[in-house]
Amino acid sequence: MASRYLEPRLERASRADMRRLQTRRLREQVAHAARHSPFYRKKLRGARVDPRRVRTLDDLARLPFTTKDELKDDQAAHPPWGELLAVPFAEVLRVHLTSATTGRPLAFLDTAEDWHGFYHSYARSLYAYGVRKSDMVMAAFSYGPWIGYWSGFYAAQDLGCLVYPAGGLSTEQRLDALVSYPITVLGCTPSYALFLAEAAGKRGLDLAKQTKLRITWHTGEPGASIPATKEKIETAFGARAYDLPGLTEIAAWGFECDAQSGLTHVHEDYVYPEVLDEADRPVKPGERGELVFTSLYRKAMPLLRYRTRDIVHLADRRCPCGRTLVAFEGGVHARLDDMKKVRGIIVYPRRIEELVRPHRDVDEFQIIFRRVDGLDDILVRLDPSPALARGERDGLRQTLAKDLQLGLGIRVSVEVGDPGCLPRWDHKARRVKDERTEVPF
Ligand SMILES: [Zn+2]
Repeated sequence: MASRYLEPRLERASRADMRRLQTRRLREQVAHAARHSPFYRKKLRGARVDPRRVRTLDDLARLPFTTKDELKDDQAAHPPWGELLAVPFAEVLRVHLTSATTGRPLAFLDTAEDWHGFYHSYARSLYAYGVRKSDMVMAAFSYGPWIGYWSGFYAAQDLGCLVYPAGGLSTEQRLDALVSYPITVLGCTPSYALFLAEAAGKRGLDLAKQTKLRITWHTGEPGASIPATKEKIETAFGARAYDLPGLTEIAAWGFECDAQSGLTHVHEDYVYPEVLDEADRPVKPGERGELVFTSLYRKAMPLLRYRTRDIVHLADRRCPCGRTLVAFEGGVHARLDDMKKVRGIIVYPRRIEELVRPHRDVDEFQIIFRRVDGLDDILVRLDPSPALARGERDGLRQTLAKDLQLGLGIRVSVEVGDPGCLPRWDHKARRVKDERTEVPF
C-alpha cells in the first residue's frame, strides 16, 4: 500500500526529534531577524531582549509579540516593503498582497527558498487529502497578487500533478473545463464552491455525476471546517471536501487529513504554534486560545510570535492517521476581528453559519448587525432555494429564528426574501454588515 504521508519522517516524528528541529530553526530565525531586519533589531532592543539568550522553545516567551498593525505601520512609514525586510532586495522572488477588507493591503515578500517552503508544506497537505501525481488539478482562485492561486498551483505541480490554470477564467469557462477534462481535484474558497455548484445547477449540470472530481480543498475562509457547509459542498461535487487554513504572512499552516476525524494538523516544522489564553499563558490540551505563530522557515520577512487573531482549540486526542504533529479541533473557530457584541453577548459570524447551513432550503444568507429603537439587533436575511414553495417560507423563517435563538442565546430577527435576492461570492464572501459601526457613505 502506498504511504499516506508525503514526509513520514517529519509527519510522524517523535516529540523529541520535532523539538530538536524546531529549536535549531528557532535559533536561526531569531539570530537572522535580529541581525538583518531593522524592524526586529529595534523591536528586540526596545523590549530589552538579547537574541543570543533565546536558546530553547521555552525561551520564546521572552520575545515580544508581533501584530499585523505593526507590520502595516512599518510599511506605511517605510514604503513599500517596510523595515521588516531582512534580505537584500535582489534575493526576493515573489510578492503577495494580503486581501485587506479595510485600508492598504500588506505586501509580503519571499526568497526562492521561502517560497519553496510555502508551497511544499501546502503540497504535503494536498498529499494528506489523497492527491497524487496521477491527479489533474484545477486551482480556481483569482489570478493576481494574492497567494491563493499561486500556492495552490505550485503545490499541485510540486506533487507532479497536471494543473489546469483557471485563474483568469470565468465561472462558465471553469464549468466547461470541469466537464470536458479529467479534472479530479478542485481548490477554491468554500463560498466559491457553493457559487460554482449553483451556477452549474442553473445550466442543468450535475457536477457530482458529470465531472471526475473526487477531492476538493478549501481555503481563505473556514467553511470546509463547518460540518454543514462541508456536507453541502461534498454533496454538490460528489467529492470529499477538505479544509486548508493558511495565512499569507505565515504559511499554509494546517490541513485535515484523509481520516477526516475533525482534527487540523499543523506543519510544525515550518511554523511553531503557541495557543495562548487571555493572559497570554499557554493553554492546556482541550482548551481554546489565540493562535500565535513563529515562522521557522521564512527569511525575507521572518515573523516572530505573530498574533493571528484566530481562535483555535488545542486537541487532547490523537488522530487515527498516526501523525504526531500538533492538532486543533476543527480548524479556526473564530476570528477575534469578526467578534461582535450584541446586548452584552459575544457573537461570531461563524456560529451563525453553523446554525444556518444545516437548512437545505437556504441557498445564501446575510448577517446584519443593526440598531432598532436604540437597541442592538441581529438580522439574518435568507435567500431561499427556488425549490422551496412560497407558502413554506414563513415556516423556514420561524424554524431558523428558533434555532438561532437557541444556538446564540439571543433573539434574532429573520427575513426570507425571494430566490436570488442576495449577492453571491466568487472569492471570499462578505456576508456580514455592521450598520452600527459603518459610516453610511
Ligand atoms: Zn490525521
